[in-house]
Amino acid sequence: MDLQAIVDGIVAEMQPRFGEGKVADYIPELARIDPNQFGIAITTVDGQTYTAGHADVPFSIQSISKVFMLTLALGKAGEGVWKRVGREPSGSSFNSIVQLEHEHGIPRNPFINAGAIVVTDMVLSGYKPREAIGEFLRFMRFLADDDSITIDHKVAGSEQTTGYRNFALANFMRGFGNLEHNVEMVLGVYFHQCALAMNCVQLSHAGLYLANRGTNPLSGFSVVSPKRARRINALMLTCGHYDGSGDFAYRVGLPGKSGVGGGILAIAPGKASIAVWSPGLNKVGNSALGSEALELLASRTGWSVFGN
Ligand code: GLU
Repeated sequence: MDLQAIVDGIVAEMQPRFGEGKVADYIPELARIDPNQFGIAITTVDGQTYTAGHADVPFSIQSISKVFMLTLALGKAGEGVWKRVGREPSGSSFNSIVQLEHEHGIPRNPFINAGAIVVTDMVLSGYKPREAIGEFLRFMRFLADDDSITIDHKVAGSEQTTGYRNFALANFMRGFGNLEHNVEMVLGVYFHQCALAMNCVQLSHAGLYLANRGTNPLSGFSVVSPKRARRINALMLTCGHYDGSGDFAYRVGLPGKSGVGGGILAIAPGKASIAVWSPGLNKVGNSALGSEALELLASRTGWSVFGN
């Protein structure tokens, strides 16, 4: 299979539509991004990377960070994670508060904002906020094998001053006793993890352990057990695209996690880690062209986990 031809073909097909969708404007720094950008990178489990478009332009990974923070939290708290956050698709928007009251402050899953804030609280345990941010940054640099990865402090600051709904979610959960640390500390870490800037190549490298039974094939390092990798993939498939998760599974058929920066990380188990980025979002907050590109990719590679 000629993966380079596949990514080149996808970019050529998307090019006339660059700029489609609507950039996230509730975070002022993200509202300034040029929407006419599109990048894709595939890294296969044998370590080959194929890129096209703006694959080396860094973007804000936003909610994609939730996959990596969950990995850290599982390493720290093991199955104890699931006492404080569920594993069911939410069916409501990424920043929704409605379900939290019915379920006594226990968020539906770790990939919506409320769930991710609880996961961040777990990673923060025993650390100062600065140390937890440092641990996350080191982890990402290690996974991507790239020390140039940094946090965009302007984006973090922008969320810190306008993240009213995240403050509401965190306060609500603290009221139910589901946050160990004070709200400012937890959200300080959460906003910084979301503000990590990576390009498609780096992100495709970082996700490789999920495509390769928990081991990063570039370094040979075992990040998680095969069972844990399988389970994180299951959560990405069922919960990785907010209330568009069912539709993404239907159209693409790969575990994936999107972010409001317009990035999507998709995993083809046993085959490859794929990162795509285009800032314009569809109605549920997932990259509009990114989702379509992955649909094309899945149909052209036959990589859907549901068969080809
Ligand atoms: N930092 C964003 C927020 O909390 C993340 C949202 C996302 O990418 O889904 O609103």
